[in-house]
Amino acid sequence: MSLNIQEIRALFPVLHQEVNGKPLVYFDNAATTQKPISVIDALSAYYKNDNSNIHRGAHTLADRATRYYENTRKLLQQFLNAREEAEIIFTKGTTEGINLVASTFGRKYINEGDEIIISTLEHHSNIVPWQMLCEEKGAVLKIIPINEAGDLDMQAFKDLVSPKTKLVSIIHVSNALGTINPVEEIIELSHQVGAKVLLDGAQSTSHLEVDVQALDCDFLVFSAHKLYGPTGLGVLYGKRVVLEEMPPYQGGGEMIKEVTFTKTTYNELPFKFEAGTPNIGDVIAFGKALEFINQLGKKQIKAHEDELLAYASDSLSQIKGFIPVGTAREKISVISFNINGMHPFDVGMMLDANGIAVRTGHHCTQPLMQRFGIEGTVRASFSVYNTKSEIDKLVASVSKIAKLKNK
Ligand code: PMP
Repeated sequence: MSLNIQEIRALFPVLHQEVNGKPLVYFDNAATTQKPISVIDALSAYYKNDNSNIHRGAHTLADRATRYYENTRKLLQQFLNAREEAEIIFTKGTTEGINLVASTFGRKYINEGDEIIISTLEHHSNIVPWQMLCEEKGAVLKIIPINEAGDLDMQAFKDLVSPKTKLVSIIHVSNALGTINPVEEIIELSHQVGAKVLLDGAQSTSHLEVDVQALDCDFLVFSAHKLYGPTGLGVLYGKRVVLEEMPPYQGGGEMIKEVTFTKTTYNELPFKFEAGTPNIGDVIAFGKALEFINQLGKKQIKAHEDELLAYASDSLSQIKGFIPVGTAREKISVISFNINGMHPFDVGMMLDANGIAVRTGHHCTQPLMQRFGIEGTVRASFSVYNTKSEIDKLVASVSKIAKLKNK
């Protein structure tokens, strides 16, 4: 059964507006997705009815807020097929999840001469924390190269991975190109040498079924705002055996069992990693976003997005001067491109004048842009609420813009 896209669109208030005198076409979903009304209402309902600090109150509101907050953790455990809820840790986002692992796991286990492997496709948030750690520890950062299509060079990875490798931290799906990486194989090869694997799931969790037990990854991080949820909230999944051995990230309330001036004992998982009052309202609202995804079904969402991707790729590639960047076979619904003779920023401005929202620039992947010898791209990324008629508008606009320099 295919999805009723008009019914889905009706759930997203933001989509029903004009931008620069044209109906909004929102194709910047890889940056952040829009929010269904159930998420927006849940946030407001929480502050209207339930606002209270969680886990420690002995009153009804605190109990209610705690139950709702923990319900989202339960939904996430099911969403990822984690073994237990204690393996789900709330963070501020993908960036904080990676920094948490770098600061705790990294500080404890990475030593001088050890190697960490990332790839050319990484977002800055999966580069800089490892550079900082390597600098502090005298460890070495190794980079898996890619080919022209944007696929990882797996032979190069096999040559890089060795007993010196302590961690492989890899983007599951590229935000800049849409490439889906062969993470199963990467995880297996990494485990063979005893390395742990972190997956940056910022772009994969909204499009693909991600089963952490089937993948056998040690960590998975992602952000709620790319999954129809609120900004400034994310998830770190970690295997219990790994999390148990890691020191805490921040010290403070919630993360302790007992504090004296001579010795402090830490709380059990997941609270050991959730110091301070968390983002309660947003966690509760995120639960509604997960319910929204569950109701539609990931397979159905992906089928619709794949259809949009194929339709857009076919039409755009007919345009004279259209240069696709990253043409991997396994992709999510992201099209990165340039127009011959034009700066991506100018293309983006012209599309915006037509009510079409895309992202332009380096997409926080400067080393990847350097690999292709370009400054940036125009990126159109599709979500479940997008339609073929919106793609027709994009194609018509890109076609007109390309003609300016490609007669
Ligand atoms: N990794 C990837 C692949 C991303 O797409 C993003 C967001 N653009 C991030 C990391 C960082 O996410 P956040 O800014 O929500 O921490």
